Amino acid sequence: MTTTYVNRPQLDDGGLLRTEMFIGGRWRAASSGGTFEVRDPATGDVLAEVADGGATDGRAAIEAAAAAWPAWKSLTAKQRSAALKRLHGLIVAHSADLASIITAEMGKPRREAAWEVGLAADYFEWFAEEAKRAYGEVIPTHDPSIRLVVIEQPIGVAVAITPWNFPLSTIARKVAPALAAGCTVIVKPAEDTPLSALALAELADRAGIPPGVLNVVTAWDPVEVGNELTANPTVRKVSFTGSTEVGRMLMRQSSDTLKKLSLELGGNAPFIVFEDADLDAALRGAMISKYRNGGQTCICANRIFVHESVIDEFSRKMSEAASNFKVGRGDDDSSEIGPLINAAALEKVERLVEDAIDRGARVVVGGKPHELGGTYFQPTVIEGATIDMAIANEEIFGPVANLFSFSTEEEAIELANSTPYGLCAYAYTRDTARSWRVSEALEFGMVGINTGMFTTEVVPFGGIKESGIGREGGRQGLREYMETKYIAMGGIQG
Ligand code: ADP
Repeated sequence: MTTTYVNRPQLDDGGLLRTEMFIGGRWRAASSGGTFEVRDPATGDVLAEVADGGATDGRAAIEAAAAAWPAWKSLTAKQRSAALKRLHGLIVAHSADLASIITAEMGKPRREAAWEVGLAADYFEWFAEEAKRAYGEVIPTHDPSIRLVVIEQPIGVAVAITPWNFPLSTIARKVAPALAAGCTVIVKPAEDTPLSALALAELADRAGIPPGVLNVVTAWDPVEVGNELTANPTVRKVSFTGSTEVGRMLMRQSSDTLKKLSLELGGNAPFIVFEDADLDAALRGAMISKYRNGGQTCICANRIFVHESVIDEFSRKMSEAASNFKVGRGDDDSSEIGPLINAAALEKVERLVEDAIDRGARVVVGGKPHELGGTYFQPTVIEGATIDMAIANEEIFGPVANLFSFSTEEEAIELANSTPYGLCAYAYTRDTARSWRVSEALEFGMVGINTGMFTTEVVPFGGIKESGIGREGGRQGLREYMETKYIAMGGIQG
């Protein structure tokens, strides 16, 4: 396959830049021979041409995963753990190169890419440990001649469909528990960011993960391969991170074969600043929650509710901080906010901001595409948005903060909950009783009190309502890839 690297990331280990699919332990061109271009979001330059897979390739990956499953699940947990530890070690050893790949294809600043690589490594370390803790149970019996036992077994061939905003860690969050549990996996990475997934496959191969245990299928148009991965009866589990709209569709597609599903979908995170909050701490938390990854995370503060008595001061401070951000290329070490992923993302952010302005909101700072051009957008703060505006109901996925005012705790909770989403919520208060009341009343899978960032591999990450099904990470994450089996051992003479 010809590969054109116009703006190739400089790597110590060039072997990590892979452009073919990884199926059954072999690097393969697409069965159609087609390729698609991966572009640097900062410039639009072509970074690589990657295999453009379709249904046939999806099927080949499923067959490879099914063939590898019996041997992989028969290993002891300790043996699988050892393989995951080797992969963890390789991720750590190649973290600078992996960060360069993430920055090149996704655009985020290098320091954020490095953080993401660390998180990806942490998932492998954590699930290497958890592999050994897939405990079952023995239940006191109802009948003296029978013993009641529950065991946990790997579910089988699993599919991971992942987004571009965390091109490595969202994959690690699925692949590590799947492999730990004894499943084999097919990863279908986002079309904007396949290179991180392929680099992971290269490292898995080097770590001695057997052929077929981890497969990566890439495609420009996900529909054809997606249909195969969700309809094929051999696949027993689909784990998806992405938009609610696509999640709903994959759930429908998986329903004929009743696959087990994990869905980590959109969020519309409220960030509540009460009048008793430490305002500077709240500001720090809001800046991280809102502007991390250029605002392109599903747990970014999407609606910032500030008590009416402190909103003016908060808005002034937030606008000052936002206007100080250094916007620029991810591979410029001084950059704090990179470009948006693509032109469609820029259009969406522009549309949401213009709609808010048309309907009476005020831009305090920013509000426009950045002078740098391309897909850069100015760090923005908007005041006076109302809850019925599109900007309060859709995920912004850009560096735009919108502030709403409230007057009572009840009102704040009602506003926060007035969304079909339920992924993540934040609140700042120094009142302990209020912390508990608010944490319990917020209808979200994750709540951060007095913190703007709490992602770690050791906790169950996931949402409720239309933000998804299931949890990733923590001890819960392993169970998503296992089935519970009840065994009754009869014929025992008491
Ligand atoms: P985002 O809005 O973050 O780009 P998407 O939900 O569109 O999120 O994409 C997330 C992942 O889902 C990507 O890997 C994308 O290719 C995949 N995807 C999108 N549409 C489909 C589909 N019809 N079938 C399978 N995968 C899909």
